[in-house]
Amino acid sequence: MKLEYECKDGLNMYILKGETVSDGIAMGNMISYERKRYHIPKLHIENTRTEVSRFVVAVAFAKGQLQTLYEQSISTIGQQDALIFGIHQMILEDEEFYNTAINLIEEQKINAEYAVYEATKQVEECFCKQGRTEDIWDVAERLFRILMGDDFAGALPKEKGILVADELFPSEVMKLDTSKVKGIVLKKGSVNSHAAILIRSRQIPAIIGGEFTDAEVGMPAILDAGEGILYVEPDADRIARMNQKKEIDDAKKQELLRLKNAKTKVHLCANVGNSEDALLALEVGADGIGLLRSEMLCMKEQVIPSEEEQFTIYKGILQKMNGKKVVIRTWDFGEDKTIKGLDTQGLRGIRFCLGHPKLFKEQLRALYRASVYGNLGILLPMISSVDEVQKVKELLEDVKKELRTEGKEFDRNINLGAMIETPAAALVSRELAKEADFFSIGTNDLSQYTLGIDRQKDSYDPHHPAIMELIRMTVKNAHAEGIPVGICGELGGDESLTKTFVGMGVDELSVTPSRLLNIRKELHGAV
Ligand code: PEP
Ligand code: MG
Repeated sequence: MKLEYECKDGLNMYILKGETVSDGIAMGNMISYERKRYHIPKLHIENTRTEVSRFVVAVAFAKGQLQTLYEQSISTIGQQDALIFGIHQMILEDEEFYNTAINLIEEQKINAEYAVYEATKQVEECFCKQGRTEDIWDVAERLFRILMGDDFAGALPKEKGILVADELFPSEVMKLDTSKVKGIVLKKGSVNSHAAILIRSRQIPAIIGGEFTDAEVGMPAILDAGEGILYVEPDADRIARMNQKKEIDDAKKQELLRLKNAKTKVHLCANVGNSEDALLALEVGADGIGLLRSEMLCMKEQVIPSEEEQFTIYKGILQKMNGKKVVIRTWDFGEDKTIKGLDTQGLRGIRFCLGHPKLFKEQLRALYRASVYGNLGILLPMISSVDEVQKVKELLEDVKKELRTEGKEFDRNINLGAMIETPAAALVSRELAKEADFFSIGTNDLSQYTLGIDRQKDSYDPHHPAIMELIRMTVKNAHAEGIPVGICGELGGDESLTKTFVGMGVDELSVTPSRLLNIRKELHGAV
């Protein structure tokens, strides 16, 4: 957080800058929250059997608490976000964590509390990679409290104001009394953490930053979270301006949130790149995931996950979405999307996959195996001709045969979709619609290849009539063959086109979660 001073008329107002976690304006005195720090004693235990059962009972008790927290949270933040506490229950069931704690008790003859502490440290790295460090420690602290007979995490503030904390656990966010906590300034954490998701869900204005100090505690402040700014000791002029802004913001927010669960004729889904985004999608009330760019799962580690790893990821996302549709696009490597050491030899999307059947089959197997955990659709990128879809179908027959022989279950009605993102695909869309179960129009590449532009660098007219015409043609052809069609490229999130797309008969729009409520508003007005 950068410190900037704005000394005006001898006043001391100064500005702290951070990153937006949750939009909105909050006013009040700065109040601090510090989590109770547990000192975990390491004790020598003779009777390890009793100690193991202390641990097992504590885990069962914690699961019960989390189930209650889940059920209570549904009414405040909705079922989807409450699922975070379902994830905490899953952490308690995590084999590595559970078995490590038991082994430590048995082998090192140590007390359950210390075993939980050690086991948490050992699995922390793996959870950290998924950005879930706070979740594992939240669960660990729950176990400490149960084992040590302490029922309260720390002194959550009782007075009204803007809360300053090092970080917050998801369960702490749920315990905050929003009639008192008007805003949050976090020193540590990430805007994509579960705590951040819950803060957004509870609509508490919040920012995150690195250089905040406790010096501001007790001072009057205004948090303009959307701008990522904290005004400490604001002057009268700033207060008046912020009051005005808050009034306008509050009115807009109310209007958008009223629409979160509004039903619209056109399906409104979210585009995501990983399972954390899936939570964001649920947070804004997406009807499902219209596009999961699977290649994004390889970017962080720069490797393609194994079939088993993919299965776990896909299964996790399907479970999180709890029966809502999840469309996973098969690897779309090529051009700007590649990973170290992967030579695509100029082949993109489906052509790269068909040229690497072993790799492709691993993904299809993982997808099919995961399909029993939710409502899965598979989408093929960069399709340019009918025979590409037919070749995939042949491969899928092999995959199904293999899985049947291995006795592995899969959903027998998975829809197979084709991306329409090359002019060729749009032009042969009538024939393609006979092979595919649905279409998803990728306007990013469709614009690039139709207009001859470089989507990363060139400026172009995104509303070019040629693009509109290709979309219209695709919708018409899809409907003539009785299949639905969605738009998942950036144009889907362009609210100036929403009514045009509705008029064309588009069945679904899939947009980034941050655009979803705005498009929901447009769709609502369009029907
Ligand atoms: C598109 O091309 O519009 C699309 C959705 O795919 P991507 O942006 O991943 O290329
Ligand atoms: Mg594309």
